[in-house]
Amino acid sequence: MSPLVELTDVAFAYGERPVLSGINMAIPRGKVVAIMGGSGSGKTTLLRLIGGQLRPQAGQVKVADRVVSELRSGDLYRFRRRLGMLLQFGALFTDLSVFDNVAFPLREHTRLPESLIRDLVLMKLHAVGLRGARQLMPAELSGGMARRVALARAVALDPMLILYDEPFTGLDPISLAVIGNLIRRLNDALGATSIVVTHDVHESLAIVDDIYFVSEGRVVAHGTAAQMSDSALPFVRQFVHGEMDGPVPFQYAAPPYGEDLRLGRP
Ligand code: ADP
Repeated sequence: MSPLVELTDVAFAYGERPVLSGINMAIPRGKVVAIMGGSGSGKTTLLRLIGGQLRPQAGQVKVADRVVSELRSGDLYRFRRRLGMLLQFGALFTDLSVFDNVAFPLREHTRLPESLIRDLVLMKLHAVGLRGARQLMPAELSGGMARRVALARAVALDPMLILYDEPFTGLDPISLAVIGNLIRRLNDALGATSIVVTHDVHESLAIVDDIYFVSEGRVVAHGTAAQMSDSALPFVRQFVHGEMDGPVPFQYAAPPYGEDLRLGRP
């Protein structure tokens, strides 16, 4: 079977500024795949290309055998409807209750009767353990709970593909593990495919099937979570083991230390 998401020789620049080049990825159906790398390495840009918010300047992004940048009005709308997105910090609508936040995509994108919407919302809230919190407002939720509501909202329309942008940021260790497990469980229960952009190595290794490492706009390593945690590649080792120095240098480029320290002496 063809991969659900396929990037072939993708290049992208914001204006004159190249961000991605020669990107090849194949994300099989049913998998949870992490895209990892330091800040500014182009991870969010990759998600935007896959979600059709940006178009590559070269190469091709295919989702479910369709070239995303060639989709027009009706097709693009239907494509977006089948995508679940959890943006950074999972921003909820602050003036809507938990229930109405999760109901929002259903009301927006379907003509289902309110009684059915109610049951669907309660099913999604139940899946994230928050059926009892339906009447709360976002301001009354802990950070971990808010993230779970955002997850329920992202999967409200039973997406074929779920894109997560830094889903673990700002969470305490317990909430982090809960969100990690939910990402895996929701993917498997929905028969979806998930892409998780993150720099949280340990949480990701526990839940994902495959990992792509991105550095300076290129894929520098790719393999299963097990292969990546045992990898001898210097970049991957530095990332996985949190080593201070490696291919990503600790020291900002500087003249030799000895010379520098002698400066100012007679
Ligand atoms: P990551 O998600 O890995 O932190 P991004 O994809 O957000 O990286 O950004 C990659 C690079 O592109 C960064 O250098 C960033 O400053 C730049 N960038 C991101 N968005 C824009 C934009 N809208 N316009 C110009 N440059 C951008």
